Formats: sequence, structure tokens, C-alpha cells
Amino acid sequence: MTDSLPPAALSHPLPGETPDEEAVRAFRQAILDKLAYNVGGRVERASARDWFVSTALAARDHVVDAWRRSNDETRAEGRKGVCYLSMEFLIGRLLSDTLGNLGLTETARRALDGLGVDLDAVGGQEADAALGNGGLGRLAACFMESMASVDVPAYGYGIRYENGLFRQIIAGGLQHEVPEDWLALGNPWEFERSGLVYEVRFGGHVRPEVAPDGTSRFVWHAGEIVNALAYDTPVVGWRGVRINTLRLWSARATDPLHLSEFNRGDHVGAQSARMRAEAISRVLYPGDETEAGQELRLRQEYFFASASLQDIIRRHLSRFPDLTNLADQVAVQLNDTHPAIGVPELMRLLIDVHGFGWDAAWKITQAVFSYTNHTLLPEALETWAVPMMERVLPRHMQLIYLINARHLDHARAEGARDGLLSSVSLIDESHGRRVRMGHLAFVGSHRVNGVSALHTQLMRDTVFTDLNHVCGDRITNKTNGITFRRWLHRANPGLTALLVEALGPAVLDDPDRLAGLVPFAEDASFRQRFVAQRRAAKERLTALVAARLGLKLDPDAIFDVQIKRIHEYKRQLLNIVETVSLYNTMRAHPTDNWAPRVKILAGKAAPSYHQAKLIIRLANDVASVINDDPAVGDRLKVAFIPNYNVSLAEAIIPAADLSEQISTAGLEASGTGNMKLALNGALTIGTLDGANVEIDERVGRDEIFIFGLTAAEVAARKRNGHDARAAVAASPDLRGALDAIASGVFSPDEPDRYRGLVEGLLNDDRYLVTADFESYSARQRDVAARWARPESWWRAAVLNTAHVGWFSSDRTIRDYAADIWGVKAS
Ligand SMILES: *Cc1c(COP(=O)(O)O)cnc(C)c1O
Repeated sequence: MTDSLPPAALSHPLPGETPDEEAVRAFRQAILDKLAYNVGGRVERASARDWFVSTALAARDHVVDAWRRSNDETRAEGRKGVCYLSMEFLIGRLLSDTLGNLGLTETARRALDGLGVDLDAVGGQEADAALGNGGLGRLAACFMESMASVDVPAYGYGIRYENGLFRQIIAGGLQHEVPEDWLALGNPWEFERSGLVYEVRFGGHVRPEVAPDGTSRFVWHAGEIVNALAYDTPVVGWRGVRINTLRLWSARATDPLHLSEFNRGDHVGAQSARMRAEAISRVLYPGDETEAGQELRLRQEYFFASASLQDIIRRHLSRFPDLTNLADQVAVQLNDTHPAIGVPELMRLLIDVHGFGWDAAWKITQAVFSYTNHTLLPEALETWAVPMMERVLPRHMQLIYLINARHLDHARAEGARDGLLSSVSLIDESHGRRVRMGHLAFVGSHRVNGVSALHTQLMRDTVFTDLNHVCGDRITNKTNGITFRRWLHRANPGLTALLVEALGPAVLDDPDRLAGLVPFAEDASFRQRFVAQRRAAKERLTALVAARLGLKLDPDAIFDVQIKRIHEYKRQLLNIVETVSLYNTMRAHPTDNWAPRVKILAGKAAPSYHQAKLIIRLANDVASVINDDPAVGDRLKVAFIPNYNVSLAEAIIPAADLSEQISTAGLEASGTGNMKLALNGALTIGTLDGANVEIDERVGRDEIFIFGLTAAEVAARKRNGHDARAAVAASPDLRGALDAIASGVFSPDEPDRYRGLVEGLLNDDRYLVTADFESYSARQRDVAARWARPESWWRAAVLNTAHVGWFSSDRTIRDYAADIWGVKAS
């Protein structure tokens, strides 16, 4: 990358630069106009929310012309584009992102200052767009931003859920879920495209029919039609170089009201078809314990895959006479298996609607699609029962059988026999007959990628070995990344200003320049300023925790942070058990010189995941006992901060000293929280899992705390059987901690509350908490010892920031562009 900046940058100031007065005045007037004419408000009486909407609309005006220009240029130049199909986009707030990428933050700040309004308070009014659960959805959001930033023409396609991820409330230590009504007060970023509607069909049956010319074909007579209506949100690239589109589908009934029923007095029944249709875009991840829940999930997947592919085809046919060159113009990325039904859907559209023969259609399909695998956990590999598929999508089931027949013929020709054939088949016959969506996506794609070096290797060595062999090696690795604009520039403006001061403004454009920080790690005055930034962030987080939890933290303590979904494989339990062990030791040796520590946890559990919810309860119970114990005082505090989301992550990450990345090796595909924290200068304590392996390679073993079994050792331990009781017997600290938990020290009102949890660990410790406890605990002591040597700690912190430039999602996207999509990036 070069020092010269793209043209858009010339008109907008860099962070830290002063915008010109004319621009500030114009922006202020734009805000006032929006307030008057769009919001219908008055300056004297405007609420913070009114100011937010007015500011967002004023910013949006700056986007619209550039948006049109991006689309016109792509079209005129005939450039190939990317369609990123994802069931989830975990976006967070957009105001600071939009202003920041346009270089308008200071302009907006001064414009509002002149009205006596604070930009940060205004930004705080925006609801998080939480259309995702965790890492997978956040990756999609980072990728969208990076594609715009490296000038890759792209559409993101997904679902406009009315209720995104639930809001988590902790009451009495328990997680409660309440709906997140992010659209309740309107969404100033989106454009409803009332002219962009597609029919998506479900159910019915398939009949062979003979056409007038004598050829026979299959015709799908659907039982139900739902409309998909598009809502577009502009995605602004860094410095406004390019504006892409996030197109989310909302479900509408074709016949919203049966008027005759309504007039007969059946007011509810008259709307039942509407309810059924609109349930599709109602909630993210409907509970799937019931058959109805599972069917709704399948309907969601097909709904957005079909609408998106119809839209891709319509856009293509508006530029070209037919679809023969579709794969030269679009690359469709399947973010996990959720949109995998797109493979037979594109085959259906090509064959049934556009008259292609099988072989030509298959060639186009494979050339268009590629698939990202996100997990190898057997319980997370999606499958659909064949009878349900036959009922909901009869034509697609037929096409899947045909794809499978050809695929198995090919496998046989390659020498595959019984065992291998059943392992590569798209139909799993071992638990009733089920369609393996991962296999379908794999077979329908020209490239299949894992999300870290280790995960990709495990794809080759375990779940996909046979399939990859039969399909001629199409697996490739693309290690995940994060957008530095959101996770450094905006989340941590203080540190960013320091980096710009040290390395020059080009570091904002080229993350590789962070390597220039290495000599600064030896510079005591630079370290001092680095510490000051951390300290300020810790004070802000301390205020947030005081306000939300009524808990007072010591900003001089080690802020030891584990923030992510609550899942057994992520091993929050290991962290909590070690916390209890530390607590026991502190009480046994009260006069020792303890490094004060604050354990910060945040994360949501899936509503039906009882074990994860019990772990949340344990964390909160442990917190209330420890936080009230004068024997440890300020030396140990535990804060479980409710409702983890993107905005909370942005507040916690700049304040983190230690990053907990402690999954059982082999189970975390990549992780991206690990990257965000290391980028902001937290030291990692972690296993050799997912992208931790690559972080370790880059920051160096001296600047990271690695512990525990490796993925290979985990596999061996599982083969030979792990004896948790023996591990506990061999570790007095572990035994002490588990005894305390099991005997009700942290649940005096219900002493047996955690007895089952501890028994379960002793009988079947499948995530190897007891196996890794001793080495984890030893590394935690190393952490404390290092903290006692500030020079060494802060040197390591600076080096972490210096060495993780590679984890920019711009790098990831350039790799996808070159090796998978065949599109040009800057
Ligand atoms: C980054 C992020 C995640 C993913 O975190 P991991 O530690 O990689 O599991 C989940 N949720 C939110 C809100 C995030 O920002």
C-alpha cells in the first residue's frame, strides 16, 4: 500500500485533524433540516433520540451519491462481484462506523457541539443491529466492511429479523431472555425497496409433465407462496472508497388478509396466513426443539437463499442476454451451511426456469459457489430429515437425490467402496435418513475453506477427509480477520491516536505498518503513554460496571477478560474453577503479595442450552460471594456484565489486560475475539486452538501464555479415555475448588445447586477441564508474576499490537478475492 490516499480522503479530515468551518456549518444545517423535515422535531424539545436520527440521516446523505457511483462504475466496467450469503450479520451500531469511514467524525462532533449536543451521547441512542449470535455473524459484518474498503463490489444477503438476538437480563444470577426490539424506533440506515419483491414457494408436489415439443420435465406445483421484500443498507468502506449493499429480506404474505373471513367475524383467523408467512423473518434462530421450530428454520434458510439467487439472476439478466456467463460475473460465498440449499435452488432456477441441461447447470453452479466451514463439532453440523425436506421443498429433495447419484457415481469411479461411499454420501442413513448440508455445500462448490490453519488441517484430517479426496482436493485455508476500523480506530481512539503519532497516519490504511511499533516497545516514554491509554479505558469500564452492576472495581488491577458466547467447549467453567481456586489460596495466604485481579466475564447462552445457563449462574454466584468477602477485598473481584453485544465488546476490549482464549484444543475453529483483544494490546492466555496458534506464531512464545493439551493430545486423550477423578486426585487446588462449588459455598441458599455439575465433570469431562486445570493455573501464576514486572508486561502489550496487523479482515478478503472468487481487490 502507498502513502498516497484515495481521492475521497482529500475532502475529509483524518482523525485528529480539524475540519474546516464551512463543512461544519453545512453539516449542522443538514442535521437541523433533518430534525425539522424528517423527524418533525424542534430544537428546543429534541430528544437525544431525535438528534441521533437527524445526525444519521445527515450522514446517510453523504453516502447516497457515492453509493450510486460505486454501483454505476461496477456495471460500466463489467466487474465481477461477490454475493455473501449469510444467515447472520452481527453489525452493532452504524453511526460511528459511517462517520469514521467517511472522515466526518470531527465534522459531526463540532456540528453538534454548536447545538449544545454531545456526539457520543447521540451515538449511544442507536440500537445494536444484532442479527447474529456471535463470531460467525460478526465475521460477516467485518467482511462486508472490508470488501467495501478494498474495493471489492459486493452484496451481503441475509434476513431482516424483526427481533435479533435476545437481550440478556441477569436476575438472581439467572439468564432471562427478552426480545430485542431494535426496529421499534425506526432504522435510519435502511431503504425499503418496495419494487424489489420475489416470490418464494414452499410445499406442494412435483409432477412430470410433457411439453408441447414432446420433451418431459418436472413441474413443481407449490402449496404456498411468500413474498420476499428487500431492505438495503449501505456499507461504507474506509475513506468512502466504495459503498456496497447489505440486502436483507423481509417476509410478507401474498394475501395478507382474508377479507371474507374477517367480515364473518373471524378477525384472528383471517390473518393466519399472514402470521405464518411473516414468522419467517420474525426472529433470529427460532427454538428448534420442536418439529415446528425446525421447519421454521428450514423455511428461513430457503427463503433467503431463494430470494437472493433470484435477485442475483435478475441483476445479471439486466446486463447480459443469458446466464451462460454467470460465473464470470458473480461469486457466491456460503457463510456456513445455512444457505447451502442455494445449491439445489440455483440448479432448479437454471434447469426448470431458464432451460439449461443438467451438465451445463452443474458447471455454472459449482463455478459460482464456494463454502466456508465454521465448525467440525458433530452436533453443529446441519442435517435435515428427508421427510421434512420432501414436505417443505419437494423439488429440491429430488434435485439433491440427482446430485447425490452423480456424485456417488463419480466416487465409485474413483474407487470408493461401501464405507467410503456412505461417508461421502449427501444422505446420512445412520440416524434416520437426513440430508447432510455440509456435504451438499462441499459438493456444490469449487472451493471449501476453513477459517484458521489448524481448523483447515482438521477439516482435511477428520470430517471431510473422504469427501475432499473424492472431490479432488478443494479445501483451502482463509484465516479469519477483523476490521481494524471498528475494533481499533473506533473502539480505541486513544490508542489509535498514539499509533498515528508514533507511526504516521498511513498506519490507518496499512495495518502491516503496525510492525513499526516494535522499537517503541523498548521506549519507556512510549510505554508510559500506552499505559495511560489503557488506564483511561479501564476507568471508563470501571464507571460502566459501577453503573450497571453497582460493583466497584480497582482500575489498577489486572483486567482479566473472557467475553464470548457461553459454551462448554469455550470453557468458561475452567476460568471459574480457577477463580475459585485463586480465591481459596488468597484466603489461605492472606498476607502474600497478591497481584490484584478483576475477572470480567460476559456472554449469552442459547435459551435451551441448560448447561451453559448453569455456568452463567455459577459465575454470578461465585461473583456475589467473592465480591462481598472482606478477606480478599480489592484483590479479587468478579464481574459478569450482562447482555454481551458488539457495543459492549467495544467498551470492554480497550480495557482488557488479559485475553482468555481457553477452548479445548481442536474445538474453536478460529475465534476472532482473540484478534480484537491482542490488537488492543491485551496479552493472551490460551490453548493452541484456532487462530490462537497463528497469534502465537506472530507475537512469539515469550509474549503469550500458552497452556494445555494440543489438538493432537486431546484426540489421543479422548481415544484412551480421560480419567477426571485421577486428575482431581492429583491436584489439591482443583479438588479444593470443586469441593467448594459442589458443597454449596457459592450457593448457600441451595447447597446442592452445583453438585450435579461437578459430578458430571468427574464422570464425563468431555471438554477436558480437569486435564488442563493444572497447566492453566500455572500459567495464571506466570501472568501474576509478569504483572509484577510492569516493564516486561507493557513491553509485551506493545509487541502484541505490533505483531497482529496480519489479522486485518482486509488481508482475509484479499485472499478470498484472489484464491476463491477471482475478483480484483485493491
Ligand atoms: C467478536 C465477537 C464474537 C466472537 O468472539 P469469540 O471470542 O471469537 O467467540 C462474539 N460476539 C461479539 C459481540 C463479538 O464482537
